[in-house]
Amino acid sequence: MRAVSLEVDLYSDTQTRPTDAMRRAIAEAVVGDEQRGEDPTTTALEDRVAELLGMEAAVFLPSGTMCNEIAIALHVGRGEEVLLGDEAHPLFAEGGGPAAWSGAVMTVVPGDRGVFTGDALAAAISPDSRYRARSRLVSVEQPTNIAGGRIWPLQDVRDVIGVAREHGLRTHLDGARLPNAAVASGIAPAEWAEGFDTAWIDFSKGLGAPVGACLAASRGLIDEAWRYKQMMGGALRQSGIVAAAALYALDHHWDRLAEDHANARRLAEGLAELPGVEIDPAAIETNIVIWSVPDAPAFTAAMADQGVRVGVLDATRVRAVTHLDVDADGIGTALAAAATALT
Ligand SMILES: *Cc1c(COP(=O)(O)O)cnc(C)c1O
Repeated sequence: MRAVSLEVDLYSDTQTRPTDAMRRAIAEAVVGDEQRGEDPTTTALEDRVAELLGMEAAVFLPSGTMCNEIAIALHVGRGEEVLLGDEAHPLFAEGGGPAAWSGAVMTVVPGDRGVFTGDALAAAISPDSRYRARSRLVSVEQPTNIAGGRIWPLQDVRDVIGVAREHGLRTHLDGARLPNAAVASGIAPAEWAEGFDTAWIDFSKGLGAPVGACLAASRGLIDEAWRYKQMMGGALRQSGIVAAAALYALDHHWDRLAEDHANARRLAEGLAELPGVEIDPAAIETNIVIWSVPDAPAFTAAMADQGVRVGVLDATRVRAVTHLDVDADGIGTALAAAATALT
């Protein structure tokens, strides 16, 4: 087999490497024992995210997956139900964690590319019946990921929270890429998070830090989250090393997400002109680009042969995610590779 060096990695925005300046911030981090609340850099990051999301407190965690798992554990008990959108992350990418940790049943609320309405939620909530799992929590993924990179309209978010409150449900915001939604929409993270019981952002996606996420909520819920953090083995020591990178990313990599969105649109528009590609460029709202081809695994392999990595979602769907390590030239390279892959 021909060895091909990877030129353009659009597999995910998790593929970013720390920049030289970020590495300097890491090197200079003031650190202590995080489990004991003695790591000043981690504490500063938690305060910053709590304020960003309009919450009382936040806790630093090793991953976004752990944010979802802990939030579900906070809200849901054995045999109780989480309602969430089609292809939401806890359904397909958390190793069955909600069942393992919380005994949760997960039910999809029908919608459009992961976005559902308040009415759809109301229809999906279990009636008070001993035959049904008791509905406890609704989770909103903003923007949606595998389902299509869609930004929830603010009104739908408000409607869903309203219906949840009416029915006594808790509310969770999976904001892995909330920074992208905030930049693309011009709506501040705190406004998106308003009314949710728990909300989080990831630092290892478009923000380009190597590790970590922060879960935010009321002081009481974050104190309880700490019990689960300890239980799941997520309590850390000198985590300022990675928290420094996250703080650096909040300061320096936030506004530039707009470049990733422009590159995603450029990619979508170029793909739309290729025979055999099905995509609606107008539906690309963030840094996630999903399209269909007749044979996604063959297409993706042909791309890889040309040094361009994209991800296979299923037999016909392909996903690319733009990020700070891919510039407009990289998008040009990817489009040329796609044209060749389709011939
Ligand atoms: C990436 C992602 C997660 C998980 O975050 P990790 O930091 O990779 O564990 C959860 N939800 C969504 C929507 C994601 O895109």
